[in-house]
Amino acid sequence: MIPCPICNHPKTKLKFQLKFNVHECANCGFQFCPDATFNKSLVSDLNEETREKALINLRKENFQHIIASIKKTKEIKSKGLEVGPGYGWFLEVCRDHGISCLGIEPETRFNEHYQKEGLQVKNGFFPQDLQEESDFDFIAYNDVMEHLPNLNGIMEANYDLLNPEGLLIVNLPQQDGLIYFISKMAYRFGIKSLMDRMWQFNFHSPHLSYFTKSTLIKLAKDNHFEAIESFPLKTINVSEISDRIDQDNQQGTLAKMITKIGVLLLFPFLQIFPDTRCFIFRKK
Ligand SMILES: [Zn+2]
Repeated sequence: MIPCPICNHPKTKLKFQLKFNVHECANCGFQFCPDATFNKSLVSDLNEETREKALINLRKENFQHIIASIKKTKEIKSKGLEVGPGYGWFLEVCRDHGISCLGIEPETRFNEHYQKEGLQVKNGFFPQDLQEESDFDFIAYNDVMEHLPNLNGIMEANYDLLNPEGLLIVNLPQQDGLIYFISKMAYRFGIKSLMDRMWQFNFHSPHLSYFTKSTLIKLAKDNHFEAIESFPLKTINVSEISDRIDQDNQQGTLAKMITKIGVLLLFPFLQIFPDTRCFIFRKK
């Protein structure tokens, strides 16, 4: 048995049998996948890129909200770091606000775009490829931390790289959200495709962990950060869920129909139980 990476409780149980197995801590409820890894050799498929690009306006809107939150506590000249900037949209929003922010990204396929937009990004892995950097005013993870192994090592590096009172910004999908709840229901009906989608097991960079609000706050606290703010962000849409249910080959029409009706009935509650949340922590 694998101990919980968050609370160290020795008892964890197999929760979902998907493309990779998902385990859940019996004590704190943290869910994690010890077997999946970042596949460096695999280039993202076209679907993934199209899907990502369709999200640009939504993501940038979320980033405006995050930057407003940084500005509340930090001066505009803040020096920031974003781990895993991907297409660089957060860095673009920082640039537009006059905030200097460096990115560290293992994938090289975005480099041309970075150059064109005048974004400063190092190719490499966090934190081992950032040896000569320090004194950041904030470090941001935009849908990235759930992809990273060795969470405690990551949090130690955040602490070391930040200035006193530096901000740690983490937004990620959370178990408390409505779509995750729907996916759990669908899983019970034998429809695994939604849960596979939640964990991104069909993508080259799968999720390795699924936090709840309290497990993320505990991880931060254990690493000497205090939570100062959290707010919901916008997330995937109803048509994508519907497509995923359709694509599930394991299930018959009836199960699919019941699941879809469930989705439609629950969807109005999405505002109350958002799937993605942004947390702002301050180094103590
Ligand atoms: Zn635990």
